[in-house]
Amino acid sequence: MDMAKQKQTILVVDDAAATKGMLDKILPQNYLVEFAKGNSDVFRQIETKKPNLILINITAKNMDGLGLCRSLQKKDVVKHIPIIFITDRQDQKNEAAGFASGAVDFLYHPFNPPMVLARVQTHIQLCSSEMNLQREIAQRKSLEQQLHEQAKFDPLTKLPNRNLFQDRLQQTILHADRNKQPFALMVIDLDRFKWINDTLGHDTGDELLIEASKRIKGVVRRTDTVSRLGGDEFTVILPEILHDSMADLIARKILEQMSLPFKLTKQEVVLSGSVGIAIYPNDGATTEDLIKNADIAMYQAKESGRDAFQFFSQDINKKVYRRLQLEREMRDALLNGGFYLDYQPKVNIASGKIIGMEALVRWNHPTEGILSPKEFIPLAEETGMIVKISAWVLKAACNDAKSWIDAGYDGLKMSVNLSALQFREGEELMALVEDTLKDSGLHPTNLELEITESLMVNNLDQASAILVRLRKMGITISMDDFGTGYSSLALLKKLPIQTLKIDRSFIQNLEQESNNAAFISAIISMAKQLELHVVAEGVENQQQLQILKDHGGTEVQGFLYSPPLGSAAFLGLLKGRIPLGG
Ligand code: C2E
Ligand code: MG
Ligand code: MG
Repeated sequence: MDMAKQKQTILVVDDAAATKGMLDKILPQNYLVEFAKGNSDVFRQIETKKPNLILINITAKNMDGLGLCRSLQKKDVVKHIPIIFITDRQDQKNEAAGFASGAVDFLYHPFNPPMVLARVQTHIQLCSSEMNLQREIAQRKSLEQQLHEQAKFDPLTKLPNRNLFQDRLQQTILHADRNKQPFALMVIDLDRFKWINDTLGHDTGDELLIEASKRIKGVVRRTDTVSRLGGDEFTVILPEILHDSMADLIARKILEQMSLPFKLTKQEVVLSGSVGIAIYPNDGATTEDLIKNADIAMYQAKESGRDAFQFFSQDINKKVYRRLQLEREMRDALLNGGFYLDYQPKVNIASGKIIGMEALVRWNHPTEGILSPKEFIPLAEETGMIVKISAWVLKAACNDAKSWIDAGYDGLKMSVNLSALQFREGEELMALVEDTLKDSGLHPTNLELEITESLMVNNLDQASAILVRLRKMGITISMDDFGTGYSSLALLKKLPIQTLKIDRSFIQNLEQESNNAAFISAIISMAKQLELHVVAEGVENQQQLQILKDHGGTEVQGFLYSPPLGSAAFLGLLKGRIPLGG
C-alpha cells in the first residue's frame, strides 16, 4: 500500500468546528479532516468516514473525552484506530489518565504545526504497519493451520492420513495396555482399483475413493478411526473389541459396502475389497508389527480370491514370508543367471521329424533345486517380474534357435510363451521382439509366439492390434492350452491366430474317454475349416497318438517323443545322437 498517494482521513471530535479549521490549514492535501460534534455524532462518522486517526479534544466543555475514548476502545471497528487527545494543559495527571483510557498520544494547544503534522503522520504510519504485521501474522497462522491439517489429514477424503493414523494407533495401544483390553486393526484395499484408475481416469478414481471412504465411515462406530494411508489403502482402528467376531462383523459390512455398485459421474463401477485384520496384542505389540501383520492378512485375503477378509495367523505369515523371499530371489536370479531354458520338440507325426521346439523356462533355485514354471510364473505375473523374465526367455530362445539353424536345421520354428502382462505395454513388446530378432539374427518366420486365451480376454482390442503387427512381421501366433478358457471361438475370430495347441487335458485319458476323442475330432475339423494348424500337447503314449492320427492330427508335442531337454541335449536330439521317443 502506498501511504503517500492515498488520502488519510482524520476525524476530529470537538464541541465546535474550530479545531478542524486549524488542522485543515496545518495538514497537507492528502489529509482529509472530518468533524464530529460531541460524543453522539462519533459512531456514525466513524462508520461512514472510516478514519485512519481520531483526534479528541478532552478539554472541550460539552463532552466527556476520556469516557468517549474508553467506549471507543470497546468497539471492534474502532479498536485498531489510533486516538490522539487534544488538550491545552500540559498536565501530567491528565496525560496519565489519557493513556490509561487508550489514547496513543497528545497534541497541545496552541498547535505547533510541524509537531502536529509529525505526530499525525507517525501514528497513521505506525498503525498501518502494525495492521500489516497483524495481517501477516494472521496469514501465517492460517497457513500454519493449513500445513498442520495437511500433515494430518488426507486432502482428498478428509480422513486422517498416515501420520495421524500412526499417532492414533500408538494412543490406542497405550489405552489398551491400561485397560487390558484387545483391539483390532483392519487394513482395507480396493480390488482392481489400479485398473479402474488407469482405464477410467484419475477423476473417476478420486471420486471412487471419496465414496469408498464415506461407506467405510458409515459402517464403523464414531469411536473407530478410519484413515487413508495412500492409494486405495484404508485402515480402521476398532478399539475395545470384546471378541474377534466384532471385527468379523465389521469386516463383512465393509465388504458388503464395497461390493455395491459405485454410481460415479462418468459411469457406474463395480468392485470389491480385501480386508486384513490384526488383533492387539496377540498379532503384534508395536504399531509397525500390527500394521505389517494386518497387511499380510490383507494380501492373503486378496490371494484367496478377493472380496474376502482374513485374520492374521502365523501360518499366513510363513506363506507370505516365503512369497516375499521368492520375489527377492527371483530378482537375484534374473541378475545372476538363475534361469535357464529347456526345449521340447514338436514333431510331425507322419515324418517323425522335429519341426520345432517350445522354450520352457526353469529356475535353478539356490536352495530348493530346480523349480518348474508352475511354481514361480504366477508370482512373477503378480509382481510384474514376468515382463523381465519373458524378455530374457525370448532372447535366450532366439539365440539358441539361430545357432541350431546355422548348424543346418533350417526349418525349425522356436515357440516362446508370452504373458498377458506383456500386452499391457504393447509398444515395449513390439520393441523387444524387433530388437531380439535383429540382435540374434533369427528370421521372423522361425519364431512362434504362444498366447493363452484366458489371459487375452481382458484387453482384447489392444492385444489384437499388437498381434496383427507381429503377424505382419512374419511371426507365427499360436493359441496355447486351447479349450481351457472361455471365449475360444470369439477369440479365434478376433485374433490373428494360425496355430491351436490343444490342451493336454483333452489328450489325457484320450484312450479311455470317448468324450475327449469327440472333442479332439471337433477341434481338428473346425481348425481345418478355419485353415488353422493344430498341435496336440502332452501326448504320452501310442494309443493317444493313434487316436489323434485317426482324427486327422498331424503335429504333436509330448513325452512320447521327448520331455523338455536342456539346450545341449536338444542339439543331440536334433543330430540324432539321442533317438526321438527313446
Ligand atoms: P505350456 O506352454 O502349455 O507348456 C507345456 C507344458 O506341458 C510344459 O510344462 C511341458 O513340460 C508339459 N508337457 C509337455 N509334454 C507333456 C506330457 O506328455 N505330459 C505331461 N504331463 N506334461 C507335458 P512346464 O515346462 O512345466 O510349463 C508349464 C507352463 O508354464 C507352460 O505351459 C507355460 O504356460 C508356462 N511357461 C513355461 N515357460 C514359460 C515362459 O518362458 N514364459 C511364460 N510366460 N510362461 C511359461
Ligand atoms: Mg506353451
Ligand atoms: Mg500348453
